[in-house]
Amino acid sequence: MNRQILTSVLVCILIASRAAPGAQPSWLDPYREPAARLIGEALSSNFAWERLALLGDTFGARLSGSKNLEDAIQWAVAEMKEDGLENVRTEAVKVPHWVRGQESVEIVSPRHSPLVMLGLGNSVGTPPEGVEADVLVVRTFAELEAAGSRVRGRIVVFNAPFTTYGETVRYRAAGPSRAAAMEALAVLVRSVGPPGLRTPHTGALDYAPDAPKIPAAAITVEDAERLQRMQDRGTQVRVRLKMEAKFLPDADSFNVIGEIRGRERPDEVVVIGGHFDSWDVGTGSTDDGGGCVVTWEALRLMKKLGLRPRRTVRVVLWTNEENGLRGGQAYLERHRGDLANHVLMLESDSGVFRPTGFGFSGSTGARARVTAIATLLQGIQADRIDPSGGGADIGPTVDAGNLPAMSLSVDGNYFLIHHTPADTIDKIDPMDMSRASAAIAVMTYVLADMPERLRSP
Ligand SMILES: [Zn+2]
Repeated sequence: MNRQILTSVLVCILIASRAAPGAQPSWLDPYREPAARLIGEALSSNFAWERLALLGDTFGARLSGSKNLEDAIQWAVAEMKEDGLENVRTEAVKVPHWVRGQESVEIVSPRHSPLVMLGLGNSVGTPPEGVEADVLVVRTFAELEAAGSRVRGRIVVFNAPFTTYGETVRYRAAGPSRAAAMEALAVLVRSVGPPGLRTPHTGALDYAPDAPKIPAAAITVEDAERLQRMQDRGTQVRVRLKMEAKFLPDADSFNVIGEIRGRERPDEVVVIGGHFDSWDVGTGSTDDGGGCVVTWEALRLMKKLGLRPRRTVRVVLWTNEENGLRGGQAYLERHRGDLANHVLMLESDSGVFRPTGFGFSGSTGARARVTAIATLLQGIQADRIDPSGGGADIGPTVDAGNLPAMSLSVDGNYFLIHHTPADTIDKIDPMDMSRASAAIAVMTYVLADMPERLRSP
């Protein structure tokens, strides 16, 4: 069926549908019609996907401090104005400026063989001739500790199989300093993600203040397993790591903000958004260009349909999530005096795959409200409310203000793609972008418009 016709039929069904009497609160009834219109408008085109494709194709990767990011920020400002959003502006943020430079890692003995790698974000570089040493492969921190003095003078390879991101990312974040404290010369980390196609995943490391800073890079799952097998056979492998990575002076960047001003209580704001910076490989389409575009879409859809909620809806495209979180912190500092007017914050930073609903953290009463609103999304199967929600960029403000927090929940293999050269638009389904935009638009519109304000704990 033609997509326009399909959408019209869906909107009619959504408007006509009524819950069984008593099953849903009556305050929700006035929202069935605008919700159906928002969903219909979102699903009637590929606007969101096309905008994300344009962003990635035009500007590429958007690492903090890069001209790519700053040019993309200026483009976003112009586009928001073109959309007719209000109070479009930037808020200045000083961001770290780390650059990768040339880099390589190769087995030099027993037989020469280059490995696929990506230096870890914020790593120091090596001397120009590189660091060459025998490797010691460990699967866990316990194995590292057990190796004792054998760590000294080695390049440690952390070959931790991926379980969850939260669990496995410890080896990337803390592994370099743990090994440095035992006098290792450098670290190679098995990429934090499920097995892919020999694709390395970068991401930030976190040097401890009390250990020497040693260079660290990610290698692929395949190469980490190869080094493990060679060690298990009793073969001593020697590698050479070369990295030009370094920090330049902090750079100027900006959070981008656009609004639909509230018609009755403009000072009260529902804040939604994603982070506009990315790693310096791929085009940051999944992490997190998609999250930026689908939250931004919520405002564009309201504007297009002439829906002006009671309270203000604000989209924020945060800068420097990946290697500093300075955008999220700067937002808090700038708006610290206004936290009481923040009704709720929502971040989309888990990729844009088929949306299933939202994660929510807040009071029981607020959860009941959000759960009721989500029933408006049954028609696109995005009505599930998960036990907790939040995001890195909204975290500082949510914590400081003890605010209700949400995140978009999706069904997709985010960690296969993120922080890799494969994070490009072709992994994203245009219909998923439209559905996610619809879900966020409906949730945000009702939260901003409902007569009684959502209550914090
Ligand atoms: Zn992200």
